[in-house]
Amino acid sequence: MAIKETLQTTQTTQAGESAETSSAAAPEAAEITAGDNDTAQKINIEKFSPRQLMELDACTRCGECSNWCPAYDQDKREPLTPRGRAARFKDLVTRQHGVFNADSLLGRLLGKKPVSAQEMQDFAKDLYACSTCMQCHFVCPVLIDTVELWERIRECIVDGGYGPLETQKDLVLKTKNYDNPWGQPRSSRARWGKMAKKKKRIKEVPKDISKQKAEVLYYVGCTASYDNNVEEVGINTTNILDHAGIDFGILGNKEKCCGSVLLRMGDRASFERICSENIEQFNALGIKTLVTSCAGCLKTIREDYAKVGELRFDVKHTLEYIVDLIKEGKLKLINNVNLKVTYHDPCHLGRHAGCFDAPRELLSLIPGVEFIEMERNRENSRCCGAGGGLKSGYPDMQNQISQRRVADALATGATELVSACPFCYQGLQVGIQAMNAPIKMRDITELVCMALGDAPTTEEDLKE
Ligand code: SF4
Ligand code: SF4
Repeated sequence: MAIKETLQTTQTTQAGESAETSSAAAPEAAEITAGDNDTAQKINIEKFSPRQLMELDACTRCGECSNWCPAYDQDKREPLTPRGRAARFKDLVTRQHGVFNADSLLGRLLGKKPVSAQEMQDFAKDLYACSTCMQCHFVCPVLIDTVELWERIRECIVDGGYGPLETQKDLVLKTKNYDNPWGQPRSSRARWGKMAKKKKRIKEVPKDISKQKAEVLYYVGCTASYDNNVEEVGINTTNILDHAGIDFGILGNKEKCCGSVLLRMGDRASFERICSENIEQFNALGIKTLVTSCAGCLKTIREDYAKVGELRFDVKHTLEYIVDLIKEGKLKLINNVNLKVTYHDPCHLGRHAGCFDAPRELLSLIPGVEFIEMERNRENSRCCGAGGGLKSGYPDMQNQISQRRVADALATGATELVSACPFCYQGLQVGIQAMNAPIKMRDITELVCMALGDAPTTEEDLKE
């Protein structure tokens, strides 16, 4: 039965029932109906737009998405394919809400079985084996908005208590309790700056923008703030903004996670809380531009926040901002950077936010760089496997996916694997280490600093 029909039938039934049971304690349509121990809670189909319900029907089962899905590439089971996931979810919805559902007279006559809690749990396990890379959307001939669909389904799964997976719950809990997914104290969020100043890698710790006004907020993000392995991102960004004479500041210990983890995991209520708090805090600063070096933060703040509240400033990825500064003559790249480079498009910067040209333009502006594209680039860039909770839920799969991407990079003959996201930086390092690959992971800001000539790059480079 078509999902459109399912929805219409459900709405009709609810309307009919409400006349008879208006004073009874029947759950409202928007609530999840609790099941017994074996029967699954009902999926709240009102969370889905009519378009999304139609999209479940629109899948032609051509299988093109399966050919490109990085998760299916590692675990060749049909339920992991975007096609399989959509079909399975449609079956669950139809059995719970369709005309022949197990609670209906017709359904009972036809021997329909209710959806069991076990089935829902099994579905959740496969649902979370996805990096939300969006590759399936780009190859789908009927343009199903797959990731929006997966994230909405995850919300239903979380509402029903079937997700996220045990290994992913920690990230969500820590984000809620500590405002960062790594469970680090809020008080050490700005430590990277103090350490960098102590090591003389930056001239000054960026000013606290909540105390001294500035035009630009550098939103550092959780990974660059807390992970020593990607401290270069904060250090290089600070040096570049200083070099260009930009009036900027950071929020330091007052900075909170952008909430991307919560949204991708399906915890929309917690996401909306942190998102609203952040919007209020950002708007109160009176900034003109928010700059971030993280693809996930960019996508979340620029696109997902804008659906929740008004942002009274521009949101740019650092590399977009740097290209502007070069064009305005505020940054002059003078030193030759004689490196053979390939570029990995972060999924949330490329496919999700449409930023494909700016990184290539920036690389072309750096003197001496020999840039070689990987065979899979731009819209078809292979995912590193770190996003969407895949790394915490399925670390072995992420490791294998990352190795596939590192192999793509090695095939170009490049010695440097450049990207523009601390999360990809972490994710690709997993593959480089597992393969002991002769390629160095770099954030794009490192190359800019090398070309500026007066800023330190990585500690490793300084020793060379
Ligand atoms: S978003 Fe990426 S990992 Fe998830 S189903 Fe689509 S192609 Fe596969
Ligand atoms: S590419 Fe689109 S239409 Fe084809 S099977 Fe995948 S989701 Fe369905």
